[in-house]
Amino acid sequence: MPETFDTEYDHNKEFLTVRTSRNMLESFDRRKIVQSLIKETGISKEIAEEIALEVEETIKKLKLKFISAPLIREIVNVKLLERRLEDARRDYTRLGLPVYDATQIIEKGVRENANLQHNPETIHKLVADWVMKEYALLKALPLHLADAHMRGEIHIHDLEYFVTRPYCFQHDLRWFLKNGLKVDGTGENTAVAGPAKNAEVAILHAAKALAAAQTNFAGGQGLDFFNVWLAPYMAGKTYKEIKQLAQMFIYELSQMYVARGGQVVFSDIDIEYGVPKICQDLPAVLPGGVVKDSITYGDFEEEAIMFARALTEVYLEGDYVGKPFFFPKPNYKLRRECFKKEGFDEFMILVHKVVAKYGSPYFLNLLAGYLPDNVFAQCCRLVLSPDNTDWEDFKNGCMRTGSLQVVTINLPRIAYESNGNDEKLFELLEERMKLAREVIEIKRDIILKRMKQGSLPFLTQDVNGEPYYRVDKVVRSIGFVGLNEMLKAHTGEELHESKDAWRFGLEVIKRMMDIAMEWSEETGQRWVITQTPAESASHRLALLDLKEFNGKAVVQGDVKTGAVYYTNSSHVRVSADVPLFERLRIEGAFHPLCNGGMMAHVWIGESSPNPELLWELTKKIATKTLIGYWAYTKDMTFCRDCKNLSGGIKKSCPNCGSSNVEWYSRVTGYYQRVSGWNDGKRKELFDRKRVNLG
Ligand SMILES: [Zn+2]
Repeated sequence: MPETFDTEYDHNKEFLTVRTSRNMLESFDRRKIVQSLIKETGISKEIAEEIALEVEETIKKLKLKFISAPLIREIVNVKLLERRLEDARRDYTRLGLPVYDATQIIEKGVRENANLQHNPETIHKLVADWVMKEYALLKALPLHLADAHMRGEIHIHDLEYFVTRPYCFQHDLRWFLKNGLKVDGTGENTAVAGPAKNAEVAILHAAKALAAAQTNFAGGQGLDFFNVWLAPYMAGKTYKEIKQLAQMFIYELSQMYVARGGQVVFSDIDIEYGVPKICQDLPAVLPGGVVKDSITYGDFEEEAIMFARALTEVYLEGDYVGKPFFFPKPNYKLRRECFKKEGFDEFMILVHKVVAKYGSPYFLNLLAGYLPDNVFAQCCRLVLSPDNTDWEDFKNGCMRTGSLQVVTINLPRIAYESNGNDEKLFELLEERMKLAREVIEIKRDIILKRMKQGSLPFLTQDVNGEPYYRVDKVVRSIGFVGLNEMLKAHTGEELHESKDAWRFGLEVIKRMMDIAMEWSEETGQRWVITQTPAESASHRLALLDLKEFNGKAVVQGDVKTGAVYYTNSSHVRVSADVPLFERLRIEGAFHPLCNGGMMAHVWIGESSPNPELLWELTKKIATKTLIGYWAYTKDMTFCRDCKNLSGGIKKSCPNCGSSNVEWYSRVTGYYQRVSGWNDGKRKELFDRKRVNLG
């Protein structure tokens, strides 16, 4: 505020009171408009003064007693637009949502992410998401990229977090076991814990490390070799004690209602049968963070197996009312060496009892020849292969990886635009990938800036002289949706309908992978192709294309009600009447091409499948197909009245007849309540062709 007022201004001062955005009442002061225009948009003083005068005139004519600062800003914006000062208008505008939409969010919530319950934290998140999404599209991204997203050529995932956090991450528990835990990253705002001296604390540190990390990441948080790194803490314990610890961990992660606006942490753990060869000679981190060269993980084979079994039994039991645990997602690694170990068969039957009852386990198939000794699976479906520097980290006790950002290419759109011309199709494909690359490069700069600014404290913790998060070591993920519909539009046949369509599909994804590899070489960064978990993208892009291309758009679902969707990534249409192994053969061919993550789904039709038969099926998938990562999905009906859980999607409870039921199924790469799904995904659920094992 200037110290003195000129006389003309004094005369005007009292004509109006302004409700400011700082919750104060102030007298109208034209010079505040001038000052803010110059400060926020950089336009000249002359134009600013001219605009301020005009605004004052406009307001005077309205003869108001009060006016709000946001309304003054809107009037200024109109004056800027009248002068064609569009850039200045973009800088000067406000972000926010209409009162009507705020009311909807407060009273009803939204159904974009199935994990979001309607609760006070979520309401805050949704309101904040609105502003942050607008900010990303208006300020962080140049117009052509924001428009490409809005038009539906590409889909930028997690836009609400685009300017604040990277996507997902996989942590190395050994580092926290050895060094203790600072949940705020600095130890200045919260208590600092030293290395865990006993198993209970180690378990709590594992859970809290993921929760703390979630506050700095948009997506999933994973712990690889979970039962291996914790095995030394189980030494000398009875199986009963170990099971209690397993239960404690799973409850912690499925009950800590903490991050990203009242959700549990999006978490997963990788479970090994015993200690894999690659870990056996590594010096073990022991209680108290002690490391002795003479004691290696190989010394804790028995404990690792006991802990794996205990975790699996907890998953099998479900929660207190008999519901499954959705998080942490358990990834079971299938290694050739496991088959030689005693008790493996029995263990896997236990795992498949969980599959039969709840469908919770995921399988990582290291038997597939194209995958290395270890891959890192986390989040919805990220499966990353380590490079040499990763193995170095692995030896040094702090292997860590993740994805910076995912951008999905709308494949059907490319088919509509290329009118059957192959050359045009591949041209557009590369063009769209370049848009995705631009987005991800901007994201990189943003995250580096945030790390410097100190707003990602968990990520800037020091690990042997390096930050915990290394922007140039994580992958840049380019995903895709609707290969099946692209093929139908371009070749006239769907993925499963002819070998030619399938081959052309492989050519498309191969081209994407080649481009990503070229970029990796060119930049020294890791560009990967991933099967996008298109929970909202498959619905949003189908809707946009239907609007844009009407009769030309090939979508699944119900066009009349708008419950439409694209088939995920390179999957066979969910409703296609194709035998299971034919489906897995068609889809498996794409898995080696998706070096940033893949996932196949087997939708189970029976309400209580036989675990032995399921295990036989798993072995067959692991040895006879190229599927790298998959899960069996069993639908469930939960009765709110009598708490009975039964298999299948049922309108009423088979136990008490009540129609007050909730359904559970796997939306993409995780389980959730069906009532939280968007219309497209709900339609997909009913379209899914399920298999019976007989
Ligand atoms: Zn009931």
